[in-house]
Amino acid sequence: MVKPSQLSRNDTTAHSWLSDWSRHLWAMPLLLSVAFTALVVVWAQDNDRLERETLKRSVMADTLSLEAQLASRLETETAKLRAAAARLPAPGFDGNRQLAALPEIAAGLDRRWISVIWLNALGQIVGETRRDQRPGAQRQAQTEGITLHLVAPTSDERRPQTGQLIARYDPADLIKSKDFWWLAAQYQVQLLSGLDQVIVSTESPGPVAVGESYEMPFQAIGDAKLRLTQRVRQPHWFSTLPVILMAGFLALIGAATVLLRRQMNKVAKAKSAWRTEAAWRQSLEESALVGLRARDMEGNLLFANRTFCDMVGYTLTELLEQPPSLDGRTPGKSRSANKESGKPEGQETRWRHRDGRMLDVMVFESPLVDGQGQQVGWMGSFVDVTERKRLEELERRQREVLANHARLSTLGEVASTLAHELNQPLTSIVSYSAGIAKALERQTHLDPDLVAAAQALSGHASQAGDIVHRIRARLARRDPVMESGAINPMVAHAVALLERDLKRSGVDISLDLDNGLPAVYMDRIGIEQVISNLLRNAGDAMAGGTGKKHIHVRTWLSLEPPLGQPPGWVAVEVTDLGTGLGGRNIETLTEPFFSTKREGTGLGLAICRSILESHGGILHAQNAPIAGAQFSFSLPPEALSVEAHPS
Ligand code: ADP
Repeated sequence: MVKPSQLSRNDTTAHSWLSDWSRHLWAMPLLLSVAFTALVVVWAQDNDRLERETLKRSVMADTLSLEAQLASRLETETAKLRAAAARLPAPGFDGNRQLAALPEIAAGLDRRWISVIWLNALGQIVGETRRDQRPGAQRQAQTEGITLHLVAPTSDERRPQTGQLIARYDPADLIKSKDFWWLAAQYQVQLLSGLDQVIVSTESPGPVAVGESYEMPFQAIGDAKLRLTQRVRQPHWFSTLPVILMAGFLALIGAATVLLRRQMNKVAKAKSAWRTEAAWRQSLEESALVGLRARDMEGNLLFANRTFCDMVGYTLTELLEQPPSLDGRTPGKSRSANKESGKPEGQETRWRHRDGRMLDVMVFESPLVDGQGQQVGWMGSFVDVTERKRLEELERRQREVLANHARLSTLGEVASTLAHELNQPLTSIVSYSAGIAKALERQTHLDPDLVAAAQALSGHASQAGDIVHRIRARLARRDPVMESGAINPMVAHAVALLERDLKRSGVDISLDLDNGLPAVYMDRIGIEQVISNLLRNAGDAMAGGTGKKHIHVRTWLSLEPPLGQPPGWVAVEVTDLGTGLGGRNIETLTEPFFSTKREGTGLGLAICRSILESHGGILHAQNAPIAGAQFSFSLPPEALSVEAHPS
């Protein structure tokens, strides 16, 4: 069984082996050339060996043939000397004359003998004749170097072995004979003694003999040897033209390989750069949270990334082969780039997803330009803003609910205040009207209309009181839900809810929230309402101004608890750069219906104060250090609140 992991490892090994191999492909021509050259060298060596053997054989053959010819010549000479010896008369008075008179002797001297000596049986010279004594002899006997001799017995039938005839000759004359010119041109011919001394040699003026040589015994002259040496040396195999050409070829291939390798390295580098770039591009396209789509000038789809496909619910193939109608509206206007900035302008459009639901899409289209700077189409990026819009809507509704809640709460407070304020006069009216009714009853002249009117007055007054109470009961704030929680998230939430509105009117907000705050026991909705109210007031205070509009919200652990209270109070502060308090104190500002705004109710701060006081907390107001107002409130530590609001 092969495990998949093994398989893949084998695969990788094979793959890396292959890629290693292809990486070294540049060396291939060089390797083949070296192999080819090696073959040529082996061939050249073998060829050279064969040629040398052939040459050796031909030198040998030439030596043998020369030896045979020389031997036959000497044999002829010996035969001629014998013939002369046979014709010799009995030694007379003048042996010299007897010798010279013999025509065979004369012919021999004319041919190649230098001198002829006649010895008797005792070894005494009977006669002698020399070439230079010949009449009309132009040639001087040249006795340079060693001379050799031929011997023939002088004998007849009657006197066997009576003496000897000795003819001296020059061996050089033999070797240098014109008959062997063809050999002399090719070889140096040497006659050597038994002790390897050169007896005679065909030497200069020809080139010095350096080549192949062969030596064999020359039995015609005792223990002498004949040696033939080639004048021209056979060139070494490595100095032959093909080998030189091959070396040049190898050098050229080497240079070509270096160039090839450089080129291949460049190509490999470019390839790997291209691969990296492609991988980058692909991962960019794949990981982009933005849908990307390229179209040509006719509006035909060229490319779309995965996000785009997911966005509309079609595969890329489907989009390319049968472009579905996504519309909604086409982003016609967005095609034109912003004239001043050159950046594409966004445009919102609605598309239909494959499953039929509508999408809100933000479209940015810019020209698609090719390598020559020519526009070839449009590149669009698409952001699905459906979810964002949904959240915005949700947030808007939440704000409305909060505002409604605040309004109801305000109305409850109004009713409560009205009830409180009207209760007294209504009670008075009821008791006065009851008094009047009683007084009227004591009257003798009882005007029944007056009594009825007084009673009706009392009834209406108490009815009015009931109505006020009922309204108060109906609109009264819901019961606070007290729970333990952190203040910072509520500050952040309130800021988040109002931030958009504030930003729209040019106000920016900074937060400085202390992360180490203890939990607070509170009614979340109430406290959030307080924070929202303070933020709204701060925004309102800067609404008409032209200066910098900034709200700073801070939370911290108050180190100065109210007199007689334990430490650990949590404080929230809202500072603005608005109009400031204009000398008013907290009492004035929190008075119900006190407002400096044209459409103000004058109840916001009053409610804030009552909410805070119901928590055991305190509201402060003062002018901010530089400009504007600074409203803050502090809430007691959790333990204290739990005591005050046991649930
Ligand atoms: P309203 O906002 O409806 O006027 P409030 O009770 O919230 O009622 O505020 C009462 C008044 O207190 C405001 O009209 C305003 O004059 C003053 N006030 C409240 N907050 C600020 C502030 N941040 N800067 C200056 N004045 C303020």
